Amino acid sequence: MRKPVIAGNWKMNTSIEEGKALIEGLTTGTASNTCDLIICPPYTHIALSQSLLQNSSIQLGAQNMHESNSGAYTGEIAAEMLKNLDCTYVILGHSERRSIYKETHDLINAKIKQALAHNINPIFCVGEHLSDRESNQTLNVITTQLKEGLKGISESDLTNTELIVAYEPVWAIGTGKVATPEQAQEVHAHIRKVLAEIFSTELADKTRIQYGGSVKPDNAKTLLSQADIDGALVGGACLKADSFLEIASAAA
Ligand code: PEP
Repeated sequence: MRKPVIAGNWKMNTSIEEGKALIEGLTTGTASNTCDLIICPPYTHIALSQSLLQNSSIQLGAQNMHESNSGAYTGEIAAEMLKNLDCTYVILGHSERRSIYKETHDLINAKIKQALAHNINPIFCVGEHLSDRESNQTLNVITTQLKEGLKGISESDLTNTELIVAYEPVWAIGTGKVATPEQAQEVHAHIRKVLAEIFSTELADKTRIQYGGSVKPDNAKTLLSQADIDGALVGGACLKADSFLEIASAAA
């Protein structure tokens, strides 16, 4: 009932030429419409991606966004700038933004509100550190991230915009370590329960929850076959068209 959604986070990778080749590999290889595909290239590649994706069902996302409309924010990118380029998704709360750039719950909350106000669909990332998991705090950490990140947002704010949640255990990102399907399913079911508390069961039931953390073609199928795993947020493996498309076909 929930269409799988596979998003690729290119992070700070690829030259313009490499990015162009990657998109061409994706557009020529995309055949089925059984899952939604999103690519999130670096900002410098977004205009090029927009033109290369014109006749494709692949959608465009950004990796971050500022929480204000415009102004003296050197180096930042506003929601309207993304909208101008048909960039309709944005990754917010990624653990690299939380840990390297010290993004707080409040800042992430402001960015999510800004995205929703501009009809950009947030891909809201949550996830625990290894120390949280080892001290049995995983579900508490996830609850706090969800409640703080979605504070002050009501179901009516989501009428024209889709909220996607990505569960990304920090210890699994870029490490080659993957949550077991059971570990991931437990957290995904918990996320859905918390979303039902914040919004409603109806909204929770239709919200797509992605798993992220070393998803590869060889582990995608078992992860994606779990009841509450509705897609994947893919880092390393999205930089090769073949492997990204293989992950997508595992979701179909
Ligand atoms: C990510 O950074 O969102 C991610 C999931 O990366 P990787 O797939 O490389 O672990």
